[in-house]
Amino acid sequence: MTYLPALKDTDPEIRDLIIAEEKREWDKIRLIPSENYASTAVLEASGSVLTNKYSEGYPGKRYYEGQQITDIVETLAIERAKKLFGVEHANVQPYSGSPANMAVYHAVLEPGDAIMGLALPHGGHLTHGWKVNFSGKLYRSVPYELDPQTERLNFDKIREQALQVRPKVIIAGYTAYPRTIEWEKFREICDEVGAFFHADTSHITGLIVGGVHPNPFPIADTGITTTHKSLRGPRGAMILCKAQFAEKVDKAIMPGLQGGPHNHTTAAIAVALKEATTPEFKAYAKQIVANAKALADQLLTHGFRLVSGGTDNHLILFEVQKSKGIGGREAAKALDAAGIVTNCNTVPFDPNPPFKPSGVRIGTPAITSRGMKEPEMRKLGDWMSEVIEHADDAKVLARIAGEVRELCQSFPCPGIDPKHWA
Ligand SMILES: *Cc1c(COP(=O)(O)O)cnc(C)c1O
Repeated sequence: MTYLPALKDTDPEIRDLIIAEEKREWDKIRLIPSENYASTAVLEASGSVLTNKYSEGYPGKRYYEGQQITDIVETLAIERAKKLFGVEHANVQPYSGSPANMAVYHAVLEPGDAIMGLALPHGGHLTHGWKVNFSGKLYRSVPYELDPQTERLNFDKIREQALQVRPKVIIAGYTAYPRTIEWEKFREICDEVGAFFHADTSHITGLIVGGVHPNPFPIADTGITTTHKSLRGPRGAMILCKAQFAEKVDKAIMPGLQGGPHNHTTAAIAVALKEATTPEFKAYAKQIVANAKALADQLLTHGFRLVSGGTDNHLILFEVQKSKGIGGREAAKALDAAGIVTNCNTVPFDPNPPFKPSGVRIGTPAITSRGMKEPEMRKLGDWMSEVIEHADDAKVLARIAGEVRELCQSFPCPGIDPKHWA
């Protein structure tokens, strides 16, 4: 039977590109820590006719008729989210993580209010108050930083800064922080200075629901998560908050920021939330962390300098400029040529600018979805070291790309079936 038969008729160019991307995702070791492989079930929901329906508003309170099905779909997603995170209110409509943060700020802040998030070059997100982002322009952003010695959060310093700045909100949750986040310490500081506590768990939500990272939602006032990272759902996001913020948050999403919700995404989020309650998902989350630790150990044996010395979660950030004599971008390009996909990244107190950073960021959610375990992590660490030592040697890179492709054939990707390509 032909794969993607309608596309073959209508737009073979796009069909070929989709298949080429499937092959790329199959043949390479994908280490970008914010990426994953959505399941076939998630992809089916995401590609469904629910994309056809407009449903501005919320279940039972819509502007248009015909919501017999969408109300049930959205209610299912909301109820599953509330139960999974132990939270009083969930809004599953944000188009992605960035608009979800924007909506929360819109709900709890006035323009000009002071906010404190981790500085972007230290592992914060653009939407946590970075200067070129709306969050750094609309609000008075005073970012906190990591400790220069430990490269970890320093709560004495954060507290001191918060007492001075008196922010209206403190944001915790990061894009490049390899350590467990002690949410309760943020709660204490927020209580002391009278700030809202906003938790952005985008990267680590799969670890949280899998029970291998503490859950902030019983104590955070507001929070967001993307649904497509370690949670392994579709491209999207959710806002999770205490009941007292529910009405403001819902209004901030619609009519404050967005129009109609993406119902096909909502359905796929519901599917991902159901998958995340299974024992298999718990084992998956545990293996993500075990794999990250095994890979970190192997990189250490090859003399890499890991930011903070190692990892507690799914993510590893390592320095290459000083320790290996190669730029982060050059290292990431060489790794990609060898079939190992990463991204260059600043390290804390990076002497180089963000477009020419000193580090590389990697993570294990995607490769763990393929069933790779500790023995593959050791092999991967060896390959990464060889690539970085021989980044200019096209022959070495091509040889390793072949070895990587070979290994990948034994580790099927959720959502992809090579039989389709025949
Ligand atoms: C990925 C991420 C976001 C933004 O998500 P997008 O879907 O890319 O807009 C926000 N915050 C954190 C911490 C993230 O990791």
